[in-house]
Amino acid sequence: ARSERESIAALNRFAADYFEDCLHQTEEGKNIGLSYFYEREFTDATIKEFNLGYNPEKDGITQEALKNQFNQKYLLAAGLSKEGRSGLYDFLRGRVIFPIHNLSGQVLGFGARTLKADKKIPKYLNSPENELYNKSKVLYGLYQAKNTITKEDNCFLVEGYTDVISLHQAGIKNVVASSGTSLTKDQVKLIRRYTKNVTILFDGDSAGIKASFRGIDLFLQEDLAVKACLFPDGEDPDSFAKKHAREEVLDFIQDNAKDFVSFKASILTEGQELNDPIKKVAVLREMAETISQISDPLARNVYGKNCAGLLDIDEAVLLKEVNKYLRGKA
Ligand code: ATP
Ligand code: MN
Ligand code: MN
Ligand code: MN
Repeated sequence: ARSERESIAALNRFAADYFEDCLHQTEEGKNIGLSYFYEREFTDATIKEFNLGYNPEKDGITQEALKNQFNQKYLLAAGLSKEGRSGLYDFLRGRVIFPIHNLSGQVLGFGARTLKADKKIPKYLNSPENELYNKSKVLYGLYQAKNTITKEDNCFLVEGYTDVISLHQAGIKNVVASSGTSLTKDQVKLIRRYTKNVTILFDGDSAGIKASFRGIDLFLQEDLAVKACLFPDGEDPDSFAKKHAREEVLDFIQDNAKDFVSFKASILTEGQELNDPIKKVAVLREMAETISQISDPLARNVYGKNCAGLLDIDEAVLLKEVNKYLRGKA
């Protein structure tokens, strides 16, 4: 008999094909889903490469899968259906679909975006974890990006599905997103199989800044060389790539990506009166804590020195503070 994993995988394969067929072959899919992707300036080649799809408003994947003898147990486990009073209903109805692949192209789950502007509806829904899908070990787009990451020896990390897709379409293919969760240690290790260099490209809003700080600490703990670059407020890599050609995007990143010390120090000190000793001490503490995440002692010293220079503090004193956090970890 098939294992639970295999059954969910088979259902996901069936669902991904169904969503793709709906997008390309049905009137509803073409009028609503495909038009939406075209509005976002995704090309046919891009839509195919990422196996994007559409799940209809009515009689979507739940009905189709039941008709094809799939067990409702797996529809529930895969998160494609929910149990209501009058039986199963479609969880992702009326949404455009972004299949999430593993490294060999198997479909582990789905991201699904609403087309409604209603703020009360969640913009994205994501498949739940199950026997097949462990969110913390998957990166969206890695299947499509892995060869280029190796070739470029660098990986861009973005926030969302559409950021991955738009950069990819612009010709920047070494891009992944940690969709459905905030970045995890396992995802960092996954990137490290392909490169030790990563550049965080997050939205220029407060959520993006917060997530980039968290990402920096995780990458440092695994000894990756991490840079970060924020997009102008209100922009994300997707919207930016729509307005600029490949070279302009790469130039922007080249000009604005900073090593983590300069990045974090510039954000923490922005608009701050560093003559105020209380504020300055708080910034220095936070910098020291981040530097203490680096496991390589030599690198720790180099970044400590840079940071001391940037913030005008005695190097030995800063390193001593770094060491306090190190001892705290031990
Ligand atoms: P779009 O360009 O389609 O509006 P986005 O990717 O720019 O989407 P953000 O609001 O920047 O969307 O969110 C970044 C990522 O966070 C999304 O791609 C998605 O993976 C996740 N996300 C956003 N909103 C939700 C939500 N309501 N529930 C779950 N995940 C979400
Ligand atoms: Mn955002
Ligand atoms: Mn965004
Ligand atoms: Mn966006």
